[in-house]
Amino acid sequence: TENSTVSITIVGASGDLAKKKIFPALFALYYEGCLPEHFSIFGYARSKMTDAELRVMVSRTLTCRIDKRENCDEKMEQFLQRCFYHSGQYDSQEHFRDLDRKLKEHEAGRVSNRLFYLSIPPNIFVDAVKCASVSASAANGWTRVIVEKPFGRDSESSAALTKSLKQYLDEDQIFRIDHYLGKELVENLSVLRFSNLIFEPLWSRQYIRNVQFIFSENFGTEGRGGYFDNYGIVRDIMQNHLLQILALFAMETPVSLDAEDIRNEKVKVLRSMRTLTLDDIVIGQYKGDTRGGVTYPGYIDDNTVPKDSLTPTFAAAALFIDNPRWDGVPFLMKAGKALHKRGAEIRVQFRHVPGNLYKKTFGTDLDQATNELVIRVQPDEAIYLKINNKVPGLGMRLDRSNLNLLYAARYSKEIPDAYERLLLDAIEGERRLFIRSDELDAAWSLFTPVLKEIEEKKVTPEYYPYGSRGPVIAHYLAARHKVRWGDIIEDE
Ligand code: NAP
Repeated sequence: TENSTVSITIVGASGDLAKKKIFPALFALYYEGCLPEHFSIFGYARSKMTDAELRVMVSRTLTCRIDKRENCDEKMEQFLQRCFYHSGQYDSQEHFRDLDRKLKEHEAGRVSNRLFYLSIPPNIFVDAVKCASVSASAANGWTRVIVEKPFGRDSESSAALTKSLKQYLDEDQIFRIDHYLGKELVENLSVLRFSNLIFEPLWSRQYIRNVQFIFSENFGTEGRGGYFDNYGIVRDIMQNHLLQILALFAMETPVSLDAEDIRNEKVKVLRSMRTLTLDDIVIGQYKGDTRGGVTYPGYIDDNTVPKDSLTPTFAAAALFIDNPRWDGVPFLMKAGKALHKRGAEIRVQFRHVPGNLYKKTFGTDLDQATNELVIRVQPDEAIYLKINNKVPGLGMRLDRSNLNLLYAARYSKEIPDAYERLLLDAIEGERRLFIRSDELDAAWSLFTPVLKEIEEKKVTPEYYPYGSRGPVIAHYLAARHKVRWGDIIEDE
C-alpha cells in the first residue's frame, strides 16, 4: 500500500546464485510491475563494493524477455537505481545494525517489510539468520527469510538446522525454497489433474502402472565439485526436487488451494511412503571417456573432488506409497550428471487395455502399446499423451502417436524463471510453493537410513562413461519392478 515498503536484502550478493538468478528475477518482476511501489534491494556480503560497482555487476546479467524489449534500457536503469550494497560479516550483529540504519533511511518512516534471501553456504545460515533477526528485523511490518538448499544432509542435521533457525524465526517467517516447485509445469501439475475430468479418475493404481521422475544433466561438476561431493546426487536432486514433485503428483485432493491445505496433503503422502532400503536404490558415478577425438573428464578428474570419492553422480530408486490409492505402484526416480542429454520430466505409464481387440497388431510386446502421459518440465516444456492410432490406409496397422501440447508452439510468451514466481510469492506471503518443516522431516526420514548405509558400507557406484545413458543397473532395478524407463529420444 501507499504507506508500506519492502526491503529485499540478498545476503551473499557477491555470489553466483545472486548474479545468475536472484537479481535477474527481481528485475523481471520489476519490469512486469509486480514489485510494490516502494521497494529497495540491498546486496550484503563481505566483499568490498560500492553501490555503483554492485550495479555494474548486476547489470551484466539483466535481460528483458524477447516480447518485452521496449524501454528495456530505461527500465534497467530505474531498477539499478534502487539496488544498493552493504559490506559486512555474516556473524556481526553490528554490521547488520549498520544495514538496519540504511534500510530505515530508505523506508523513510513507512511501514517496513523485510525479506532476507540467504544466498550463502549452509555453514553460515544460522549466524546470518541470528544477526539479521536480532539487528535488522522490521520494526513494524513482516520479516521473512528465504533459505536455499541444502537443508542439512540427513534427518539429524536437518532437524538441528530447523531448531537453530527457530530460535530466531517462527515457522511462518521461514521460506525454504525448492526452485523446482516454481517451475511452470510443476505448478501446472495440479491444474492438469484437478481441473480436467479425463485425468483425475485415472490417477490411481487401478489405471496407472508406474510413474517415473527423471532428471538428467549433460555436463559434470566441471571444477565445482567441492560442494557436490559432500552431498551426492540423491541429496542434491532426489530427496528434494524429485520427491517434492512426487508428493504433488500423488497427493489426495486438497481441501482448497491454500498453502496449508496443500502442504498438509503433501506431508500425508510423504508419511505414507516406505523408507528406502539398499534394495530400492542403485548408484553410479561417471568416468572419463574419449569419443570422436574429444576427451571428457571423469568425476574424480575434477580437482575439487577427492580421488577416492565414492559419491554418486547418478542414482535410480524405486519408491512406494502405502496408501489405498497407490498400493503397489512403483514410483521410479532417476537422476544423473554427465548423461547424454539434459532434461527433467514426469512419465506416467498406464496399464494395458484389458482384452485389447487389437492385441494381434501389437505383436508380443504389449508394453509398447500402453498409453503414456509425459510432462516435460525442462527444456522445451511440453505435455504429451501417447495414444495408439491407426496408420491411415487400407490395411490395419497401428502406431503410437502423441497428442501434443508443446508450450513454445501454443504460447508465444516466454516462461518466467522459477525464481521469479518464488520471490513474488515470498513478498506476497504465499507459502504454497515453499517447504514446511514437517515436510522436510518426512522427506529426510525416507532417505536418511539408506544414505547412511551407502556411506557406511562404502557401496561402490557403477561407473558409466561421461555422456552415456548411465549405468546398466538402472535398467535392472526398473525391470525388477516390471518397468521400462521412458526416453525422450524414443518418443521423437
Ligand atoms: P557462493 O557463490 O559459493 O557463495 C555466495 C557468497 O557467500 C560468496 O559470494 C561469498 O561472499 C560468500 N561465501 C562463500 N563462501 C563462504 C564461506 N566459506 N564463508 C563465508 N562466506 C562465504 O554460492 P552460490 O552459488 O551463490 O549459492 C548460494 C546458496 O545457494 C548456497 O547456499 C548454495 O548451497 C545454494 N544453491 C546454489 C545453487 C546454484 O546454482 N549456485 C543451486 C542450489 C543451491 P563474500 O566473500 O563476498 O562474503
